[in-house]
Amino acid sequence: MEIIHVSAECYPVAKAGGLGDVVGALPKYQVELGHNAKVVMPMYRTKFLYNNNWDLVHEGYQQLGSQQFKYAVIREKTNVLGFELYLIDINGLLDREKIYGYDDDTERFLAFQIATCDWLSKWAHQPDIVHCHDHHTALMPFMMQFCHAFKHLGRIPTVFTIHNAQYQGWIDWNKQALLPPFDSWKWGLLDWDKTINPLACAIKCASKVTTVSPSYMEELRYAANGLENLMQYERGKSVGILNGIDADVWNPQSDNFIAKNYDDHAVKEGKRKNKKELCGQFGLDEDKPLIVFIGRLVGEKAADILPDAIRNSTYQHRGAANFLVLGSGESEVENNLEHVKNQLHGYVNTYIGYNETLSHLMYAGADFLLMPSRVEPCGLNQMYALRYGTVPMVRSTGGLKDTVKDFGDWQGYGIRFNNATVPDITHSVGRAIDLYNNKRDLYNWMRSYMMNINYSWDASAEEYIKLYENLIEN
Ligand code: ADP
Repeated sequence: MEIIHVSAECYPVAKAGGLGDVVGALPKYQVELGHNAKVVMPMYRTKFLYNNNWDLVHEGYQQLGSQQFKYAVIREKTNVLGFELYLIDINGLLDREKIYGYDDDTERFLAFQIATCDWLSKWAHQPDIVHCHDHHTALMPFMMQFCHAFKHLGRIPTVFTIHNAQYQGWIDWNKQALLPPFDSWKWGLLDWDKTINPLACAIKCASKVTTVSPSYMEELRYAANGLENLMQYERGKSVGILNGIDADVWNPQSDNFIAKNYDDHAVKEGKRKNKKELCGQFGLDEDKPLIVFIGRLVGEKAADILPDAIRNSTYQHRGAANFLVLGSGESEVENNLEHVKNQLHGYVNTYIGYNETLSHLMYAGADFLLMPSRVEPCGLNQMYALRYGTVPMVRSTGGLKDTVKDFGDWQGYGIRFNNATVPDITHSVGRAIDLYNNKRDLYNWMRSYMMNINYSWDASAEEYIKLYENLIEN
């Protein structure tokens, strides 16, 4: 099968979160299953671009409203990522250092999708599947069926994966002229609640809709940031497939970013060395349990209550645990965290920003990983934590529910709590401290056990293949 993944992110080319990890891994596993999976993404000015070699494979012109733009498609020469990687270069629009966060993101990702459709429409043959990820690519299933210039792509089955339904890519109707000319009576497919809603449009137009965990698919039917009814209506073509992790990138035995490599037999000693390094860097006490948080500092991740939860836990448990936070996001949360760090010097530290290398050392060196998320479509951090023998402390929601079992249950290996609140987190911190100090045998068993759970893409990559096969057969 020839599968075209279209995405705004792909690790290690450009990553802002879980989407990048997924698109960097899933195609590789699909290639290993014998398929021809490719990734098409925007050409940003990232390190990866300058450190690799490229062939120019296509150049073309397209319209964004009244503006004509030129685009080029370049291909990485050696398949260094384990699949064919294509970047779409649009001067002045896509070639920037950051992935998102510009005032003209709507125009940027519209142009990206138009250029991708145009390039695909010039191929002598048609791919078997086009698989779009999140709202930045969500208008492609519509464009391929109803935009006059691309209609001959309309018979290619499309899969749309919702990685996060909070962000829907809303576009005001007064920008509709930016879309390539389309069958005007199909406007209702673009619309949701009087705006052009790319996410809703993809849910309506794609041949199949997937979410990144079965529990998240259930949740979206009653909490989908306004799209609940649509998710109910389209349930027949929707399925939740749990994300996997790239077991080559996230492997404590070979990870180059950590201080000491280890496997499940050497977990105690391996983690001790990594913890020593981490605590040394951040002025924390390596003899106390170390609880870390890694992620975007936004409400979805319950980062707003993190400063209070850390302060309260430190007071209530008399400084028996240390905390380290890596993340960036809302400035109020960043400031509050800095405040707690100054107040509780020696107990709490933070790194405000994005740091891939540090994240690996934290998964390896921490004892516990805290994820109090309000919404967690799948969550990869907890799976990385498991692979590195770090006990996940998670709120029971979405993918966290699908991947973590509380240690109070039979063969449980994590800590779960029900509410994203300061008391629930403080209570869980107490359980973590007790486990670390007083239940050493259980704690050691948990670490070895969790490291052997297989959350790699093996099973889920096959599930996607089966989904594609069903579409092609019908
Ligand atoms: P998201 O909702 O952000 O996509 P996921 O749990 O699916 O959440 O994926 C988060 C990914 O981003 C993980 O690989 C995590 O390690 C990484 N990550 C998040 N924030 C940072 C940061 N500040 N520095 C380094 N890596 C980060």
